[in-house]
Amino acid sequence: MAALEIELVPCLKDNYAYLVHDPDAGLTAVVDPSEPDPVRKALAARRWKLTHILNTHHHFDHTGGNIPLKEMYGATIVGPGKDRDRIPGIDVGVDETTGWKFGARPVRVLEIPAHTRAHIAFVTDDAAFTGDTLFAMGCGRLFEGTPAMMWKSLSKLMQLPDATRIFCGHEYTLNNGRFAQTLEPKNPDLTARMRDVEAARARNAPTIPSTLGLEKKTNPFLRPDSAAIRSSLGLAQSGDVEVFAEMRKRKDSF
Ligand code: ZN
Ligand code: FE
Repeated sequence: MAALEIELVPCLKDNYAYLVHDPDAGLTAVVDPSEPDPVRKALAARRWKLTHILNTHHHFDHTGGNIPLKEMYGATIVGPGKDRDRIPGIDVGVDETTGWKFGARPVRVLEIPAHTRAHIAFVTDDAAFTGDTLFAMGCGRLFEGTPAMMWKSLSKLMQLPDATRIFCGHEYTLNNGRFAQTLEPKNPDLTARMRDVEAARARNAPTIPSTLGLEKKTNPFLRPDSAAIRSSLGLAQSGDVEVFAEMRKRKDSF
């Protein structure tokens, strides 16, 4: 099977939608279309016809393009089955037990709640679409879940291979990295990554995708066991969930 082609589509202020194209089957999906126009233009430029719309969660900046794109292309909308009522135009509800198939290609669905209660990730080949749960050097806010729930969701994503490419919902990387540096100022991997991120953002280039391996080395929300982070927070003896919760709380007002 040929590799999937993945194209970033910047939307709204700092969202990313992604076109996912299977050249063998002639299928094209869009993940989390915030709005229709940039998606339509990206499809036209590649001469791809939209067949599927995938949503990681119900928020408007991830589903705003659902109905107009469905009307334009007759695409099938696939989203978290446990949130059917909140996904505009949903045709197919999926979860961990159902998974999904993009043509003949199996796609894993991971249930990763906490940003919203039914948030999912789509995982195919070496790519994971993590929505607003795992960001580059950050994680989503806890709108519908607890710190323990988010830590469990992130831990689930951490089981994927280190080479997995992480495609997330927003370009928040620079600000996330600055927060990470307050917790781990001497992490050499973080210092090196921030040089790359600052250079990319200076020329307005995306910092996405990253890899899970790089996230494990630099994303504080995947590192509550780090001695440096614990000492920055004054929580040397605490459990991972407590450390995670304190980081998330501080990031909310960073
Ligand atoms: Zn969201
Ligand atoms: Fe979002």
